[in-house]
Amino acid sequence: MRFTHVTLAQRVLFGSGKAAVNLAAETARVGAQRIMVITSGSHVALARAVTSRINVHQWHEGTPMHVPIGVADRVSATVKEKDIELLISIGGGSATGLAKAAARATSIPIVSVPTTYAGSEATNVWGLTDRGLKTTGIDDRVLPVAVIYDAQLTTSLPVDISIASGLNAIAHSIDSFWAPGTNPINQTLAEEGIRALSIGLPLLTRDPNDLAGREYALYGAYLSAVAFASAGSGMHHKICHVLGGSFDLPHAQTHAIMLPYVLAFNTRAAPEAQSRIAAALGAATALRGVQRLRDHLEAPRTLGDYGFTAARIPRAVKLSLTAIPAGNPQEVTPEGLTALFHAALTGAAPETLCN
Ligand code: NAD
Repeated sequence: MRFTHVTLAQRVLFGSGKAAVNLAAETARVGAQRIMVITSGSHVALARAVTSRINVHQWHEGTPMHVPIGVADRVSATVKEKDIELLISIGGGSATGLAKAAARATSIPIVSVPTTYAGSEATNVWGLTDRGLKTTGIDDRVLPVAVIYDAQLTTSLPVDISIASGLNAIAHSIDSFWAPGTNPINQTLAEEGIRALSIGLPLLTRDPNDLAGREYALYGAYLSAVAFASAGSGMHHKICHVLGGSFDLPHAQTHAIMLPYVLAFNTRAAPEAQSRIAAALGAATALRGVQRLRDHLEAPRTLGDYGFTAARIPRAVKLSLTAIPAGNPQEVTPEGLTALFHAALTGAAPETLCN
């Protein structure tokens, strides 16, 4: 074995019903007095309850997806003006992403309280959108110093968003089997992440208030994000990035749709990954396991449902060809990518890509 693995320095506090107590403890640990909370407009009440034990100096309510640069600049300016010492993000990847943009501009630390399965809280990756183009990068200043997971906060996340977000998390794990920095540690985390999510997502789909299901999903989302943070972006993420950034497709749903297609495309050339993913899903093959789970969850099926069209495929192929990392297990050709996008456009059987 020969590999490099980086473990990012971050405290993780996990406990249902414990968010307010754990947040107060982490805030005291950081020693910050002037605190700014960044949260989505859709769950301000939840954020007020979580921060009931601390003094909040400044609120930012409203977190558009993909971190538009204008909003990020406004938040960063407020952080400087008000001498903020700690940022607290409460919400999904959009709230975390906005806090990360402010942390990058000001070097102020973040404590993150995630309410979806996006996993951004466990990575040092930032993203920013300027005039329709999304740029991402790595900066350790954007890694939250602490993450507070409380499954009770996720019971209000609608089931359809939970499913798409959970499949986004599984995609973090699956892509980490062939991303540029893949290594045995990432792969082990990824296996457990897939296993936990495949238990949790069906439970929460049956009953959105099922705390055990929500806990499995949150735990799996964290493991998957840690694997992804270390492995980097592989073919799946690069393609979804193109679809989200250049064709305005929604983040989590796009991941949910593309997952079986990238899996079918790559696993024929990655037998060990295929058998480990299959084992994590308790299925005969990785693809069958993912498809069984997606069927059970009634996951999003076609890119066409989200406004993608055949006319856009040549541009998506061109952009993806330059974005996909060189070490992808299966050779990436314009013909192969064209077939992949056509299949995902209409929800055709991914098995056709295995031949
Ligand atoms: P999101 O944060 O936009 O949340 C989706 C929707 O769910 C929003 O309408 C939000 O208001 C709502 N919501 C969130 N929590 C809720 C709750 N508990 N109850 C009710 N409603 C709730 O979307 P997301 O999928 O979590 O994050 C997507 C963003 O995160 C994208 O911009 C993506 O690029 C980014 N992301 C970044 C990384 C990274 O490592 N930097 C990793 C994953 C995702």
